[in-house]
Amino acid sequence: MDLDLSDEQRAFAAAVTDFCKRETGTRAQRDALTGNGLHKHHQGLYQKIADLGWLEVVESGMVDMCLFLEETAYGQAPIGGFATSSIVAGAVSRFGSPEQQKTVVGGTAAGRTFSIAMSEPEAGSDVAALSCRAVATDAGYVLNGQKTWCSNAHFADAILLVARTGGVAGEHAGLTMFLVPADAPGLRISGIDTMGGKEVNDLYFTDCVVPEDAVVGVVGDGWKQLMAGLNVERLILAGLMLGTARRAFDDTLAYVRERKQFGRPIGSFQALRHRIADLATEIECCKLLVYRTAELVDRDPSRVLPRESSMVKLKTTEVAREMALAGMQMMGGYGYATEYDMERHVRAALVSTVYGGTSEIQRDIIGKTYGL
Ligand SMILES: Cc1cc2nc3c(=O)[nH]c(=O)nc-3n(C[C@H](O)[C@H](O)[C@H](O)COP(=O)(O)OP(=O)(O)OC[C@H]3O[C@@H](n4cnc5c(N)ncnc54)[C@H](O)[C@@H]3O)c2cc1C
Repeated sequence: MDLDLSDEQRAFAAAVTDFCKRETGTRAQRDALTGNGLHKHHQGLYQKIADLGWLEVVESGMVDMCLFLEETAYGQAPIGGFATSSIVAGAVSRFGSPEQQKTVVGGTAAGRTFSIAMSEPEAGSDVAALSCRAVATDAGYVLNGQKTWCSNAHFADAILLVARTGGVAGEHAGLTMFLVPADAPGLRISGIDTMGGKEVNDLYFTDCVVPEDAVVGVVGDGWKQLMAGLNVERLILAGLMLGTARRAFDDTLAYVRERKQFGRPIGSFQALRHRIADLATEIECCKLLVYRTAELVDRDPSRVLPRESSMVKLKTTEVAREMALAGMQMMGGYGYATEYDMERHVRAALVSTVYGGTSEIQRDIIGKTYGL
């Protein structure tokens, strides 16, 4: 399938590519913006992109969104806040009040960041096991419990919280979405150090009171509302990893062309040449899958595509991981050195098969769509 992009979409992707070349094209620029790779988000750069109007892509279709994510990931632009913001914007645009839409969708387009908090220490793959509680009172809702792995909460404006207003841990019924300001009294945000740097957080809710209008959508419909966002969430992660895989590929290719051993470029050895050929083919497959799925979603955004969205997430994140690890191997010791970007690609890609639903869970979902 040839990518059926309009002239406008091609021009948009090219403009994003050029911007990244200018702003994050050198290792020195990237180090300055990320504190030597520690931080995934630089607000100044993000704001520049917002000022160009490009974050309005959050209100366009998934093809446009994937083009933006692919090119910014390829360019290694530290705008980590955008992925979670667009996931939250998707949920709020589907179910939120006009006021919430203004805050989140308008806020994202203007360069604000939003996070999503589902996971808990005892509820990871099994999201329905979550037990963080929201109890209705005269003042609104009182939140108590812990969330974990919440990406970007340390610089977010607000958090889309999924909490239990009814039922017991393990049930899909009784979950509700809330939009909680990150500075709400009773909410403590505490960073978790990971091999990816500063990106995720524990959230502790202790008698945190939010007004009734913090509810997003319908009380008790949180699970249904989460399911409605699966296409978008999984495509966002796939778009990002497509860009990362392409970048790891191009960095590898440049290296194996340049590096000589036994008197010839290492890329000319068949063992490496064939590996490169296989990886190029895999990445091409991912590209087709990402944009085909994005087109399907754009054709009918209300249709949930569990098989296609799990396939695109599974395939693209696994290929990105395979690519980055192969790139490291093909660069020998230099792939392991922090002086080169390959170890950053490895760290970015490794975790992508875990967040947003692990590869095992994606395979389970795909299997179920075949009646297994
Ligand atoms: C960097 C990062 C960012 C994240 N960002 C967010 C975020 O912003 N918001 C949020 O809510 N969460 C976030 N998460 C959480 C993420 O979604 C979970 O880590 C993920 O869903 C897996 O849950 P877990 O870590 O508890 O692992 P577990 O669920 O304990 O799984 C451990 C292992 O068991 C396997 N396993 C579990 N159940 C099954 C099964 N039924 N069949 C086969 N294998 C199974 C898993 O595949 C995995 O290999 C993030 C995580 C990371 C690491």
